[in-house]
Amino acid sequence: MPVAKTSAAKSPTGKTKSQPKPVVKASRPAKPKASKTKAAKGGYDPVAPERVKDILNRLDQRYPNVRCALHHNNAWELLIATILSAQCTDVMVNKVTPGLFQKYPMPQAMAAASQEELEPILRPTGFYRNKAKSVVGASKAIVENFGGQVPDEMDKLLTLPGVARKTANVVLGSWFGQAVGVVVDTHVHRISRRLELTKADDPKTIEQDLMKVIPQPKWIDFSHQIIHHGRALCIARRPKCAECPLENICHAADKTWSTVEIHKAAQP
Ligand code: SF4
Repeated sequence: MPVAKTSAAKSPTGKTKSQPKPVVKASRPAKPKASKTKAAKGGYDPVAPERVKDILNRLDQRYPNVRCALHHNNAWELLIATILSAQCTDVMVNKVTPGLFQKYPMPQAMAAASQEELEPILRPTGFYRNKAKSVVGASKAIVENFGGQVPDEMDKLLTLPGVARKTANVVLGSWFGQAVGVVVDTHVHRISRRLELTKADDPKTIEQDLMKVIPQPKWIDFSHQIIHHGRALCIARRPKCAECPLENICHAADKTWSTVEIHKAAQP
C-alpha cells in the first residue's frame, strides 16, 4: 500500500495540491549490481539499458545543445576556469576570469606570477590561496613540460597541479571533444545517485559506474545536461520534481512530489 505524505505539494501545473502526495516507500530498494538477474526475473533494474536510454532521451529533449557554462576562448582558459570553479558558481568564475585573463593572457604570463599576486584576484571564488597555487603551478607545468600548450591526454593533464579527473574531463570533453570519461561534479554526483545510476559516494567510483551504463558517445552531453538539470530543477534542497521531465522514472528518496514508488536507497 502506498504511504501518503500530507504536506502541501505542487502539481505539474504549479498549483498547490490539497490531496496527500502519492509518495510511496519501497520496502526493498533495487540493487544495480544484480541488474541482469533482476531484469531476467522482470524486476526493477535502475541501470537497464532501456531505462538509461529513456533518461538520456528526456535529457536531450529538455536540454538540447547544452554547452560548458564557463566562459573561455582556448584550452588554457577553460582549464584555469575549471580549477577556479571548485566550490564556486560558474557565474562568479565568469565574473573573475575576464580581468584575470586580461592581466595574464597566456600560460607564460601566469607562470611568471607569484601566488600572492594572484590571491586578491581569485579571492571572490573562495579557497583562493589553494587556487592561486594551483593556477600558477599548472601554468608553470604547461610552459615547462608541454611547450605552453595544454596537453590533450588524460595522463598528462593529471600531472598538472590542481588538476584531477573532473577538470581533465571538462577540458578533454568541452575543448578537445574527447569522451575519455564523465565529468563528476557536485550535480552529477547528487543526481546520478538520485536516479540510481550509481550507489557510490566518491567521484572516482561514480564516474566508473556511469561509464559502464551510459554509452560513450553520450558521456560529454550527459555531464552538461545533468549539470544544467542540477541548477534548474534537481537542486540539492527541495528539487522541483513536479516540473521534472524525469519524474515518473525517478524514485529518489528525497523527491518533493512523486507519482511513483520511492526507493530508500536512492539518496543524493
Ligand atoms: S524527479 Fe526530482 S529528484 Fe528526480 S531527477 Fe527530477 S527533480 Fe531530481
